[in-house]
Amino acid sequence: MENRQKNYGSVHDTKASMMYNRFLKQYNEWLSGGPIPDTGNQDIKYFLSQQRKRLEKRGLHRDSSIELRGLLASAGAIPPKVGKKYTNVTEFRTAQRNTTYSRGGRIIGKFRKKEILYQTITFANEATVDGTEPCTCPSCGAVSQIKALFEGCPYCHTRFLMQDLYPKVANFYSIEDLSYSKEEIKRTLTPWCGGGAVIFTVFMLAYLAWERAKTGDPLTLYSMICPLIGYPVIGAFGGYMLFALKTLGYIFWRAMQSLGLLFATSGSKNRLIRFMKNYEPDFGYENFANQVIALAKNIIFSEPGEDLSIIRGPWDGESFQNITDIVYRGAMSVGNCWQEGPYVYADIDLYFCDTYDRGSSMKEKNDRIRMIVGKNIQIPQDPGYSIHQVSCESCGASFDAMKIRHCPYCKREYDMRDHAWTVMKIRKTGGKPS
Ligand SMILES: [Zn+2]
Ligand SMILES: [Zn+2]
Repeated sequence: MENRQKNYGSVHDTKASMMYNRFLKQYNEWLSGGPIPDTGNQDIKYFLSQQRKRLEKRGLHRDSSIELRGLLASAGAIPPKVGKKYTNVTEFRTAQRNTTYSRGGRIIGKFRKKEILYQTITFANEATVDGTEPCTCPSCGAVSQIKALFEGCPYCHTRFLMQDLYPKVANFYSIEDLSYSKEEIKRTLTPWCGGGAVIFTVFMLAYLAWERAKTGDPLTLYSMICPLIGYPVIGAFGGYMLFALKTLGYIFWRAMQSLGLLFATSGSKNRLIRFMKNYEPDFGYENFANQVIALAKNIIFSEPGEDLSIIRGPWDGESFQNITDIVYRGAMSVGNCWQEGPYVYADIDLYFCDTYDRGSSMKEKNDRIRMIVGKNIQIPQDPGYSIHQVSCESCGASFDAMKIRHCPYCKREYDMRDHAWTVMKIRKTGGKPS
């Protein structure tokens, strides 16, 4: 990973940390039924409303919370992606997520997960943003130019300041985390050691009493002094050893699981970087990953048959309908990369842990999502790009292109490949390699 330690000297870092925490707080409120976070941009708002719709449609109730775990080596950032008008900063922290699903008042699934929560925050570069850029109105969601929003949104008449529009969280996702913090070790270890001490001491005292009963000596206080001092220590140590063995076993099991992923993904990262550097000298793998994860998530939470601009070919929407949550497993593999005219294409596999609604229970399963993604390499990409706030190349009108493929004013087709990675094909295969 091209992660770096946080550089606290940078203005973006401090502001990004503040945004990170504000979004996390609002996201938590959203998880327990609260409003959609206003620190998120339109992409986030859209995705979260799609996810909530999915739960409602399936008659599921979800109680969920996410808390920072405060690991020492737990915070960081990915090198910022600086564009002409916008800059993207990605930050991450370790967190704990607890989720309970219920249907009709009956609990059908409980999940506890340690994860690393990533957020990408988009800043507007004040020197180059001139007000003509499209932007979604934070209160009504209609798309206008930034300067129109300063004077009052043409649709809902709310006036905004620049700080209402940017920075905004543009993307977030989680990766499973297997590490323990000091506090977590203490908390987990205490019952093991305490239990070991109590069980071993009681057992040994019972044994001693039985031994002495055989010879006719009653159990005296004096005979118990040494055992009472020594056995708890031995028992606690035994508990500790058992805990260590159990943890090692778990880590080994997880390591074996991810070995397959490692083989599937090794080398492909560098292949993609080498290929893309021919076209984009500042190509960033993490930013690419951010974009394709967001694409996959948005398609998975769409209704089948929706006419989305983020996907150009036919797709089997039904196969995603009983998925209620997806967690990126931190692994992506890249197959073929090729160029056709002004477009480049790549075969990619994303590895997700998906939560499935099985009617009377919820189940987690590892899935592989295969996609072909493509984009126009002759048009430089803007880090502030959002499918929800585009402007038409022929008439200049601003609109939300997520579900409108043709400009509502001049009917020109909007091809998202000209601005960002776009999905050409998507399908789900079994969890191999898991
Ligand atoms: Zn408005
Ligand atoms: Zn137009």
